[in-house]
Amino acid sequence: MIAGDHKVVIITAPSGAGKTTITRFLLSRFSGRLSFSVSATTRPARIGETDGKDYLFMDSERFQELVREDAFLEWEMVYEGRYYGTLRSEVERIWGLGQAALLDIDVKGALAVMKKQREDTLSLFIEPPSLEELARRLSNRGTETPESLKTRIDKAAYELSFKDSFDRRIVNDDLQRACEETAGIVEAFLNDDRSPSD
Ligand code: 5GP
Repeated sequence: MIAGDHKVVIITAPSGAGKTTITRFLLSRFSGRLSFSVSATTRPARIGETDGKDYLFMDSERFQELVREDAFLEWEMVYEGRYYGTLRSEVERIWGLGQAALLDIDVKGALAVMKKQREDTLSLFIEPPSLEELARRLSNRGTETPESLKTRIDKAAYELSFKDSFDRRIVNDDLQRACEETAGIVEAFLNDDRSPSD
């Protein structure tokens, strides 16, 4: 489905590793060359989020319809009862603009896209310095109960076990440094005609 001469950058990480900030940094650094692939989701919009910009928000019926139509490059139930998916049409729209698509997706979704197509795809795994540091960051957000913190840490430990499957790992020990390191990798990929796996 993904044509060989079109580029995809996948960015993935355990939650709390700083992926969102790095994603925003890349989109601003590579404005006009790299565009955010807007996913479909069945989770409700949060305050400040815009339909069609942050996500395409939809109900489960519509999401299932799209699954049946094979509209997704990948889709996952990322959280209990909450579905997220990368639309083929969205990636193609970005390619139509002559740009590379940036997919900010969970680890399972990233592995699924990579299985379908490794050529012209750069996969980046943002790693927290340690699980202890991740736990500290998540509890500093103040949004976690002890149970939800444990669930997230267990999930992060599981996701970390896949870190060697990705083209590049970036340790987010210092956010500014990690942003610059990631931008350097993306720059080389965007400038190169060959895939990173060549
Ligand atoms: P949030 O609900 O906080 O926006 O996102 C939760 C998680 O879902 C994040 O790790 C995000 O990267 C991931 N996600 C967003 N869109 C997709 C998608 O299309 N597919 C998959 N597999 N994960 C996604």
